[in-house]
Amino acid sequence: MVMRHVAVIGHPIGQSKSPALHTRWIKAHGVEADYTAIDGKDEDSFRELIRTLPEKGYAGVNVTIPFKQLAFELCDERTERAESVGTANLLVFHDGKVIGDNTDIAGFRAALSSMALDPAPRTARIIGAGGAAPAIIVALKESGLERIEITNRTASKAIELAERFEIKPIGWAARDTKLGEIDLLINTTSLGMEGQPPLDMFVGSLPPHAAVIDIITTPRETDLLLGARERGQKTMNGLPMLVHQAVPSFEAWFGIRPDDEPAAIEFLEGLK
Ligand code: NAP
Repeated sequence: MVMRHVAVIGHPIGQSKSPALHTRWIKAHGVEADYTAIDGKDEDSFRELIRTLPEKGYAGVNVTIPFKQLAFELCDERTERAESVGTANLLVFHDGKVIGDNTDIAGFRAALSSMALDPAPRTARIIGAGGAAPAIIVALKESGLERIEITNRTASKAIELAERFEIKPIGWAARDTKLGEIDLLINTTSLGMEGQPPLDMFVGSLPPHAAVIDIITTPRETDLLLGARERGQKTMNGLPMLVHQAVPSFEAWFGIRPDDEPAAIEFLEGLK
């Protein structure tokens, strides 16, 4: 059997949990493949990788910070889902073409639905308007939320997304005001990530039934989540989203759909 290669490309990439996750599935399903982490370094290096990896036996790659938008631009073909957000986190190399998809939308949707929030959230405030935010906005809209707000340090980025997706922009200075009607708070900034300062935000006025999601995966519990958990609110870190976006990636490359998401999340929770 021919050895197939797949990888995640980002910069920095050292902290990525994707190699451990996909390697677990590669072993479990007896696939002749390997999944590595590649430092994309800069935009020129990333372009070069996307041009040369297919001829080196790569079936495709996952793309992470900061190359998701560039990946989208470099594709020969894109799925409707990738088009809806303008970023690609999954590339499949097929017949000399680069095909781009976005599995972060489905990943976030599945993670949110696994929280089984009751009553279902109707309002959400998204903190951050970087590369991860558009997929989360689309996922929330698909999940039927009625009111979605977005706030970002660089206001122009929140306003651009608010206009594009018809949601409400909130000033950064007002990020912790009027939280009383918010059912779901989502941190999509890199604040709170290992090596970064915590998200400076007072969320004590969220209602008791509100849930807090931080899509960061390292550490497993950011200060934001710790505070929310201590107040008795439901919380979720970024690992369920990571696992749920990885499932369709694995399926796209190898034709096998892993179906052990809870065990895979637990496996990642146990990693350092
Ligand atoms: P990004 O495109 O680099 O965006 C970073 C965001 O953080 C921007 O909104 C940025 O605001 C904000 N930010 C950074 N430093 C800040 C500071 N000092 N003060 C205020 N805001 C600050 O990154 P991304 O791709 O959106 O990823 C963001 C996080 O999500 C990362 O931790 C990443 O690992 C995680 N993520 C997780 C998953 C998952 O599956 N769990 C998927 C995707 C991403 P400005 O616009 O003002 O710079």
